[in-house]
Amino acid sequence: MGPGVDPHLYTPTRNDVRELLSADLVFYHGLNLEGRMARQLAQLKQSGRQLAAVTDILPRGQLRSIGTGHGEFDPHVWMSVPLWTECAKHVAKVLAERFPEQAAEIRSRSENLVNEFAHCDQEIREQLKRIPEERRVLVTAHDAFEYFGHDYGMRVRSVQGVSTESEAGVKDISDLVTFLVEQKIPAIFVESSVNRRYIEAVQSGVAARGGSVRIGDELYSDSLGPADGPAGTYESMMRSNLGSIVRALGDNAESVPRN
Ligand SMILES: [Zn+2]
Repeated sequence: MGPGVDPHLYTPTRNDVRELLSADLVFYHGLNLEGRMARQLAQLKQSGRQLAAVTDILPRGQLRSIGTGHGEFDPHVWMSVPLWTECAKHVAKVLAERFPEQAAEIRSRSENLVNEFAHCDQEIREQLKRIPEERRVLVTAHDAFEYFGHDYGMRVRSVQGVSTESEAGVKDISDLVTFLVEQKIPAIFVESSVNRRYIEAVQSGVAARGGSVRIGDELYSDSLGPADGPAGTYESMMRSNLGSIVRALGDNAESVPRN
């Protein structure tokens, strides 16, 4: 998948399947994020390819259930740097076992990465303190930030559910509008991989009620930005999101007319 592509809706191309079939080892996410690739993954397994689910090692008690009653979990675990660190360690372990000649190199790179992730995690905790308590609310189109909110102390609201496959109804939008007007939240966010229409509808809804809410800079929820841009890696994506959130909600955020 390229930058800005929505994984919930992605269907693999014939070329993708060819590449998967020629791979030595295939990592997949593992919590139903690759919903439309299930058939190809089953095919790969049958063909004897080695597959590894990145989220396999996470204790189920640390995952957020999505409340469908089917024992399904929210897949957006990368929004928690500590959880994603565990996944990265797991990937390194599987790689080192599969390619023993490179094991030392893999281990050393993995250690560097884990250190970088720890800095990133610390930075998020520090920077978010610049947002006054009552404004620590993250409103987005789809529900990708539950782990972020849980780890970093932000309330999270969204128009759609955990997958972009769900459509939002008029009531979802009007409930959110009421919440924003009552709580006087200054900003809401669009995501790079999700259609802006719901967030724009919410903004219009707030205006129609005599309030005002800004749309903050784009967040990267389910997809990195272009490789040479400011959100081309995992940590830069997390930092870019952090910057956008603090700019829009922090104590220096543009003041919004109150009704
Ligand atoms: Zn998502």
